Amino acid sequence: MYPIDLTGKKGIIFGVANDRSIAWGIAQMLGEAGARLALTYQNDRVKGRVTRLADTLDDAISLPCDATDDSQIADVFSQVGDTFGGISFLVHSIAFAQREDLTGRFADTSREGFQIALEVSAYSLIPLVRHAADLMPDGGSVVTLTFHASQRVYPGYNVMGTAKAALEHSVRQLASEFGPQGVRVNAISAGPLETLAARGIDGFRDMKRLHAETAPLKRNITVDEVATTALFLCSGLSSGITGSVIPVDAGYHIMAV
Ligand code: NAD
Repeated sequence: MYPIDLTGKKGIIFGVANDRSIAWGIAQMLGEAGARLALTYQNDRVKGRVTRLADTLDDAISLPCDATDDSQIADVFSQVGDTFGGISFLVHSIAFAQREDLTGRFADTSREGFQIALEVSAYSLIPLVRHAADLMPDGGSVVTLTFHASQRVYPGYNVMGTAKAALEHSVRQLASEFGPQGVRVNAISAGPLETLAARGIDGFRDMKRLHAETAPLKRNITVDEVATTALFLCSGLSSGITGSVIPVDAGYHIMAV
């Protein structure tokens, strides 16, 4: 238990697929801190798993949401509004690119592959923040997940690097537009973690090893380290922070060689 109390706070977490998902690590941490949570799942394939995980939390609900479907997004916020009243935080932990676009040359990315990756991994944040702000009359906090490939070239990460660059700039634009109503929008740039999404990236294991060797802390990070940062960002302790990309990467991003 960490000394941040979210008792009485409510929020939605998008992006739990299984118990290795970063979103699940964050859900557990925020749940332990006393928050009431709504978890969303992408489709029926993961419904059972996510519902079972939600059942282990205190009073959580789970709802379907494919982030490419505007009506499912609207339904989530309408149901959360009915059940919770308002919310004070939202976690966006969603990304997808076709397997063929995470291998070979970036130059060979198809038009369709580019559209899919950018829509799911970057655009999806925009409607989520717009809807969330309506349920945050007293302000709130939105946290998304990004990766250093937004700034530097990681062979294999390909179009997902482009998507993360778009996501990070969307964070700044949304932070600017929703700041006046007290809604903060930030990103955590996490170091490599072995999850379902990571498995799709060509050369991920080697990249993870290189991170550990190069990072000032000489190790990889843990999901808990991302989750505690999310806990801080969802709490009032981070009230002065918005529009930021916060690296949780054992310091890897400062190194040149
Ligand atoms: P994960 O596979 O557990 O999570 C990805 C989630 O995206 C899944 O829950 C999946 O259902 C969801 N998703 C994909 N398409 C969707 C759609 N159309 N609608 C709704 N949901 C959809 O993997 P993860 O590593 O926990 O990824 C979470 C986030 O963290 C991603 O944004 C990822 O890019 C980011 N991230 C991961 C790492 C890492 O090394 N694992 C590092 C930095 C950032």
